[in-house]
Amino acid sequence: DIVLQTNSLGMTFPDGTRALNNINLTIRKGELVSIIGPSGAGKSTFMRSINLLNKPTEGTIMFEGEEVCKAKGKKLRLIRRQIGMVFQHFNLIKRSPTYQNVLHGRLGYMSSFKGGLGRFSEEDTRQALNILRRVGLEEQAFKRADELSGGQQQRVGIARAIAQSPSLLLADEPIASLDPSSSENVMNYLKTVCEEDGLTSIVNLHQVDFAKKFANRIIGIKAGEVIFDGSPKELTDGI
Ligand code: ADP
Ligand code: ADP
Repeated sequence: DIVLQTNSLGMTFPDGTRALNNINLTIRKGELVSIIGPSGAGKSTFMRSINLLNKPTEGTIMFEGEEVCKAKGKKLRLIRRQIGMVFQHFNLIKRSPTYQNVLHGRLGYMSSFKGGLGRFSEEDTRQALNILRRVGLEEQAFKRADELSGGQQQRVGIARAIAQSPSLLLADEPIASLDPSSSENVMNYLKTVCEEDGLTSIVNLHQVDFAKKFANRIIGIKAGEVIFDGSPKELTDGI
């Protein structure tokens, strides 16, 4: 039940910046992983390499039993469709109703940026409402996304990601734009939906407190290297 495995993963950007070095991680189904570390540690680069937005320059990534680093075209789209993404700045289509933003998840997240919309049936709408209920937003379903608060918008981001029925959910600093009480609320919803679905997730966070509350496994990254990998209990100061 291994979902993701990286072997000797390394990333050097064209300008020579060494962002990741020898990352060896195995992530199993249902794990809630939080990646922590200071700004510039390589957290985003790691996440962007998993969904192949930044192809790593060294090593391999096994996702659901398959080597994915060399995937292109249709294969790459299929892999990305299995990876739900939640973004720091939500990346919703602001003028579309909330329920439509949720349905864009099923198209794969890249489609949402292009405004690649289909027509939605009553059944689609019903499914979107069911997912919105899970993040406490059923009543906001027909409001425009930009009429919602930041915390609500991020809950739509979570709903959109799970609408895709992903095998892995990646969230890159999902609460960095939110105030503390919305952050708490969003992280609680995120944890609950992941647990309900047995969904494996990796969440980049720079706040250690939130990481400890959310995750059952914490990975500390510093200067592109894994310097801690253990349970929240095992995490002591020093990161
Ligand atoms: P974090 O998410 O932990 O803040 P990043 O993954 O964004 O860290 O960055 C890791 C390092 O890689 C930093 O030194 C950053 O400046 C550098 N970096 C990120 N993206 C690029 C890029 N496209 N080109 C060159 N260097 C980059
Ligand atoms: P955020 O953390 O808000 O996503 P970043 O500044 O980390 O913003 O990254 C925004 C974009 O700039 C990303 O595509 C990243 O790869 C790129 N980037 C980050 N640091 C560098 C850098 N030192 N040189 C070139 N590109 C970078």
